[in-house]
Amino acid sequence: MQYTANNLEQHWLPFTANRAFKNNPRIIVKGEGVYFTDHNGNQIIDGSSALFCCPLGHGRAEIAEAVYRQLLENDYAAPFGSATPGTFELAQKVARITPDPINHIFFVNSGSESIDTALKMAMAYHRARGEGQRTRFVSRERAYHGVNIGGVSLSGMVKNRETFGAVMPNVVCMRHTWNEEYAFTRGQPEHGAELANDLERICETYGGSTIAAVFVEPIAGSTGCLVPPKGYLERLRQICDEQGILLVFDEVITGFGRTGSAFASQEFGVTPDLMTMAKALTNGAQPMGAVAVRDEIYNTITEAAPENAIEFFHGYTYSGHPAACAAGIAVQDIFYNENIFEKARTLSEYFLDNLYSLQQFDCVRDIRGYGLIGAVELKAKGNAGSRGGAAQIDLFQKGMHVKFTGDTGIIAPPFVSEERHIDEMMDKFRAMLKDA
Ligand code: PLP
Repeated sequence: MQYTANNLEQHWLPFTANRAFKNNPRIIVKGEGVYFTDHNGNQIIDGSSALFCCPLGHGRAEIAEAVYRQLLENDYAAPFGSATPGTFELAQKVARITPDPINHIFFVNSGSESIDTALKMAMAYHRARGEGQRTRFVSRERAYHGVNIGGVSLSGMVKNRETFGAVMPNVVCMRHTWNEEYAFTRGQPEHGAELANDLERICETYGGSTIAAVFVEPIAGSTGCLVPPKGYLERLRQICDEQGILLVFDEVITGFGRTGSAFASQEFGVTPDLMTMAKALTNGAQPMGAVAVRDEIYNTITEAAPENAIEFFHGYTYSGHPAACAAGIAVQDIFYNENIFEKARTLSEYFLDNLYSLQQFDCVRDIRGYGLIGAVELKAKGNAGSRGGAAQIDLFQKGMHVKFTGDTGIIAPPFVSEERHIDEMMDKFRAMLKDA
């Protein structure tokens, strides 16, 4: 193959219609504040914090400088059997904002890895307690837990799982919590807590003592912002306690302030046993994820092995990479020093007022929102997803980036947005809806 400048062919893009993209590329060459610039020099407002990763917007010098300094100081060291200082500092900074007694942090490189790590921790914990028969997992329809085989097994989104079923382990899905009757509900729906009783029925069918853990996103993000009905997460917690099942909150999107609290766990007042996180941990500046666990889980797994033995046979070559830790520390310091989660809470009211004003358009089927995340679901036209796909491209051409799932656009502004930025996003979204 001969190298030629501007050849798009060799790169196989993830989760992208490759052939259509290469006919009409959308290439981002710069990010600054809440704006991107594309390869034609157009300004694009970032309506989804890229992929929910960038609450601080783009181009924060403190993060870039911290990574640069770290790479000069020590670019990499083996994370198995030795460690770098940043891992301890960042773990402490994350544990400071997780709910007690969730104080132990395991680093990974993505949300998908955090899910597979949490699956293994749940199994290791039960085995250490003499309950190794707990090998089944419970998830939910419309769930998204990343793309590794563990996470795809938990997934409740058909396109993500239908091709890979042959290699997936033992997972049973509860029903999702969306209901047409409650369309256009702002915040938590009043009804639907009883859907958590699906977990009880699954225990009656399979035996609660065979189930290791239940995975839920407190707000189901990638399927289009399904906010938990009032009492739903509380009921899941109660059933897990009765049955000895671990409760895992996947906070990959909701973590680090998206709801107005540090984590959705605190926002909804329900403490899980394990929490997965990624994305905003480093403001997207370095690939990184983490699993935070209750002290009892860490202690049970570590104390089950002899003192000089490895206790948990799991880890990644790049777990706690020095550059990712440097980015994470800089980001957590900005969150803390600038009271960033409170900024998200304050801006939420204005954002949601504007978001729900979009319901005047006939093509809108539902709007859902909480904190600084909201979804506008369009009525399907043609194949499922084709209206949404066209809307996403139209929005980009109008100067706005929005993440779409099927026919649903998910708007999640950077927390550093000002009201005028929200106005600009809504104006562009309205212009798209007029033509949709
Ligand atoms: N879990 C949730 C809730 C997510 O939204 C995502 C990604 O969007 C993941 C897991 C997977 O994260 P990653 O793409 O970093 O592997």
